[in-house]
Amino acid sequence: MNSIYMPDQVAPAKVQEQPLIRYEGVTKTFGELEVIKGIDMSIYGGEKLAIIGPSGSGKTTLGRMLMTLEEPTSGIITIDGEKLWQMEDKRGRLVRANEKHLHRMREKIGMVFQHFNLFPHLTALRNVTLALTSVLKVPKDEARERAAEMLGKVGLATKLDEYPSRLSGGQKQRVAIARALVLRPKVIVFDEVTSALDPELVGEVLEVIKEIAEDRETAMMLITHEMEFAREVADRVVFGADGLIVEQGTPEEIFDCPRSERLQAFLGRFR
Ligand code: ADP
Repeated sequence: MNSIYMPDQVAPAKVQEQPLIRYEGVTKTFGELEVIKGIDMSIYGGEKLAIIGPSGSGKTTLGRMLMTLEEPTSGIITIDGEKLWQMEDKRGRLVRANEKHLHRMREKIGMVFQHFNLFPHLTALRNVTLALTSVLKVPKDEARERAAEMLGKVGLATKLDEYPSRLSGGQKQRVAIARALVLRPKVIVFDEVTSALDPELVGEVLEVIKEIAEDRETAMMLITHEMEFAREVADRVVFGADGLIVEQGTPEEIFDCPRSERLQAFLGRFR
């Protein structure tokens, strides 16, 4: 059966299901630098997948390719069986995806970044409603209602009319999480979302993510340096180094019984 080193090993209960997201033979090169060296990886519907690994190992690049922000150099990423970066032209030939295709695919993908990326000139509420009215064409009243409800869910019911400059880093990040969630994407990529926060604000953001992770509908790709958080929230953990998946498994397998020396050394730094 699968050894832990097989790149696409999955939890046995999920083997039968069709993955929501697949990376197949994905590489990414920046100039001379091959940052992703051929990754095969799946994320299942509702699954919470944590990606851990040393700085510079390609974790963010992996996430950015799914968020349509970096195009793979080779290989294929599919969402719901549909290719993200390629599409068929009128004659049925596979060609590079155009902006319209990417735009449609983006509706399935929520994004939360290290630096929040809120619009500074819009209130918390407007930051969240804008996504609904502009991307999903939801009518204004309904958008307001859904945005307010989502901001309540992340603990910001009293901050709807505040501008980002008047919010703490943790609050800003919670607005960004509400903005991603309100679009009801199939998957949300959390790219080191606590790395830019003062240490005392990290907990409140992780707590909110833990709460929303209880919703089994939305898959999550959690790129993180927070090992305890990964252990608590993730169904499966992928450890990457030097652009390859070195080891993957359940949080217990990865954190309690790391097999490779690379992972043992990496985890040793957190002890
Ligand atoms: P991680 O998230 O694991 O820290 P990254 O994916 O951010 O790793 O980066 C992996 C490597 O790719 C690093 O060496 C980084 O400097 C390089 N890199 C990332 N983005 C770019 C880019 N746009 N241009 C050139 N090099 C990049």
